[in-house]
Amino acid sequence: MSALDKFTYEPRIAYFSMEIALQNEIPTYSGGLGVLAGDTMRSATDLELPVVAVTLVSRAGYFRQKIDAEGRQQEEPMQWQPADHAVPLNAKIAVTIEHRTVWISAWLYTLEGHMNGRQPIILLDTDVAENSTEDRQITAALYGGDSTYRLKQEIVLGIGGVRLLQAVGFNIRQYHMNEGHSALLGLELLRRFMYPSEDLRPGESPYNIPRVRELCCFTTHTPVEAGHDRFSYELIYRILDDFVDIATLKQLAGEDSLNMTCLALNLSEHVNGVAKRHAEISRKMFPGYRVKAVTNGVHPYTWTSPGFAELYDQRLPGWCHEPELLVRADCCIRDEEILQAHQRAKTMLMEKIKVLTSATFDPQLPTLGFARRMTSYKRPDLLFSDIERLKGIAHEQPFQIVLAGKAHPQDEGGKQLIEKLHRHIHELDGIINMVFLPGYDMDIARIMVAGVDIWLNTPLRPMEASGTSGMKAAFNGVPNLSVLDGWWIEGCIEGVTGWAVGGNTESANGNDACALYDKLEQVVLPLYQDQASWVKVMKGAICKNASFFNSHRMMRRYTTEAYIR
Ligand SMILES: *Cc1c(COP(=O)(O)O)cnc(C)c1O
Repeated sequence: MSALDKFTYEPRIAYFSMEIALQNEIPTYSGGLGVLAGDTMRSATDLELPVVAVTLVSRAGYFRQKIDAEGRQQEEPMQWQPADHAVPLNAKIAVTIEHRTVWISAWLYTLEGHMNGRQPIILLDTDVAENSTEDRQITAALYGGDSTYRLKQEIVLGIGGVRLLQAVGFNIRQYHMNEGHSALLGLELLRRFMYPSEDLRPGESPYNIPRVRELCCFTTHTPVEAGHDRFSYELIYRILDDFVDIATLKQLAGEDSLNMTCLALNLSEHVNGVAKRHAEISRKMFPGYRVKAVTNGVHPYTWTSPGFAELYDQRLPGWCHEPELLVRADCCIRDEEILQAHQRAKTMLMEKIKVLTSATFDPQLPTLGFARRMTSYKRPDLLFSDIERLKGIAHEQPFQIVLAGKAHPQDEGGKQLIEKLHRHIHELDGIINMVFLPGYDMDIARIMVAGVDIWLNTPLRPMEASGTSGMKAAFNGVPNLSVLDGWWIEGCIEGVTGWAVGGNTESANGNDACALYDKLEQVVLPLYQDQASWVKVMKGAICKNASFFNSHRMMRRYTTEAYIR
């Protein structure tokens, strides 16, 4: 019996994602999209749904972040050995890239749930002896290289992925594209489902597009035009050749360039955005398409600190399978127990800060956390817009700040933001205790979202499609203080689950710094001193947000609306 037999006996849903955060030691992810993909698979595991995930092996990972003395991000490769975690599959398929044959092999990583359940994850790998040195690198660096490199990766993921699943015996009932990176899978399916030539009238397209649409669903994650992957047709001719005829391709993917989002939209029966506002924006960006909203969620067990997990196990048994039970947390858990579980997580964070930066944080002081991809629309510097005002607030009501986040190696603006944050750390030395934890990853995220008292998010509207770290905070009774964008438009009940910064229209963007200072000074920090009121908000975050913004609910919706319809 091969390692795959226990997975191939029943038809499955194939979940395609450029990145998946399987476990912290496996660097096949960069940030939010990959963590979401990991949580999706972890929920599929707990719910014992028949899914198989397909991604790239990314042997060199994304990168390891070091920060030098000037606060400048340095990137190091993060090589990992697939053989340490996965088993090689006895299969090899080929795709044509630049008129060459490129061989693709694969690894099977078995995702083991913490309850029952296990899921197969297929890691595609071009590092095989038959390939040229250059082609062996196609699956090495996640989001590395130029657009030619990216297109090659997307050929391997989309076209190679579909072929490999077939070669190893999977019967796929539905293909789910997590973001447009895998949209070329639709082209492979078009070639698989063609009308017999004798049935065609002259000039009629040979591709059975309705059949392919029935087989596909698509989740878009990008609320701005510039964020969508596009390739020039000149590049497509050179790399992919005439994989499907050009008239059909242009009809499906755009006249001027191949837009991966358009391709996925046109070849998917079910399409969704990742929050209500994001779905609205997507409908405006792509008029004529039916775009539903399936708001993201996070995996309950993965993102709940040990103290809270023990508490939920005792008071609300079954919460891991049915996180809706957390809606009763306010009545079933005593205030002191909530505060104790939080203090335990806070102590863990302070210890981590000590180890990573040698700074000493005060477990009694209110602590703000901000960690996410360092890029300009996330505005990590918004809190520091008016340093004198910030100092003034801290002088009256002391607090401390923990920061973390990686900038994409080619995002110079993001890297400068990291440098800027480090300058602020020096500037505020002795006034506000503040650190930047290097190497943001799942482990640091887990410790931060649970150990801080207030989770801060200040994106530029409408750029935050959903955001998920604030949902992780909710599982740990940590309220959000955030700009109304993405999931927080749905999650914020003022003073109950946390607090809004500014209004929920784009016109509020310019006034956010002021709104943030006002809210912090007049509402949030004073409330922190009133423990009984504060713990009510902690409970509000758990009851109203953790019970809803979890990936079990998300997967149950994908199952009933996208996979079985
Ligand atoms: C959850 C998570 C993210 C995404 O957080 P956002 O709030 O959506 O930006 C990114 N990176 C890591 C390591 C995470 O755990």
